[in-house]
Amino acid sequence: MNLKNMDVVSIRDFNREQIEEILDLSRKMVPYARGEKVSRMLDGRILGNLFFEPSTRTRLSFESAANRLGARVIDVSQVSTTSISKGETLADTIRMVEAYSDVIVLRHPHEGAARLAANFSSKPVINAGDGAGSHPTQTLLDLFTVQEEKGSIDGMNVVILGDLKYGRTVHSLAEALTLFGAKLTFVAPPALQMPLETVKHVESMGGEIKIASDMKDVISDADVLYVTRIQRERFPDPTEYQKVAGMYRVDIDALREAKKDLIVLHPLPRIDEIDPEVDATPHACYFRQAFNGIPVRMALLAMLLGGEL
Ligand code: ASP
Repeated sequence: MNLKNMDVVSIRDFNREQIEEILDLSRKMVPYARGEKVSRMLDGRILGNLFFEPSTRTRLSFESAANRLGARVIDVSQVSTTSISKGETLADTIRMVEAYSDVIVLRHPHEGAARLAANFSSKPVINAGDGAGSHPTQTLLDLFTVQEEKGSIDGMNVVILGDLKYGRTVHSLAEALTLFGAKLTFVAPPALQMPLETVKHVESMGGEIKIASDMKDVISDADVLYVTRIQRERFPDPTEYQKVAGMYRVDIDALREAKKDLIVLHPLPRIDEIDPEVDATPHACYFRQAFNGIPVRMALLAMLLGGEL
């Protein structure tokens, strides 16, 4: 299937077959991501990494993925160092970066920014997180992690815990898990439940959703527990944040009733929602999940830029 030159703005841009193809290539990329094999398939290509919001994993793993395949990276990680601080529009900035690179990776605080960028660029644009919108490449690596750790996604009971309102990763994830036949349970403080638009979309796909307000009630059936941080920076009112801060925490005690082979995922960074004591348990998969960002992004870049192993 040809994904060459495609924009990746939303997980809805892909059908199941295309996602499966990306995951299959991601598996082949693992030894290259580890540096055990070497490929120069993207030699001479340039990736423009534009990060207008903080990032550790997404920015560095795109950079690492590009470097592992022989591409070069140009990047901006602070608005203050660009002409945007002089008043230049995002559209004009994108027109410039389009001329300087072969693929653009954009993280931006405003929902819809990646779609706008894609409209102004003839080169592929990858949404690396647009405000509280979505984060499709995180979803691809989350799916890859579930597949690698559990052998399949179909039929898995996935509990998604945390700030489901502002957490962009879970918006794309809920839809993609449904596409792959997983069953979803959303656990969140009532003020931070999943946006209706996502719930409706999942239901229109035939997805099964359970809603709970306490993880204790649903943990024993879970195959995957996906935890997210409260997105403090997205609260319009700090007192609203104070009301929900620290409302949930996954520690060893909270996992006592869990299946032995439950996996715990988190897009990271974690603040206090997973106790570090969980790191040493067989449930903890979030650091392997973070590594998976590299092979998955290598696969995506290879497919968008037409590289072959
Ligand atoms: N790193 C993820 C994101 O950019 C999750 C988070 O920040 O909580 O959306």
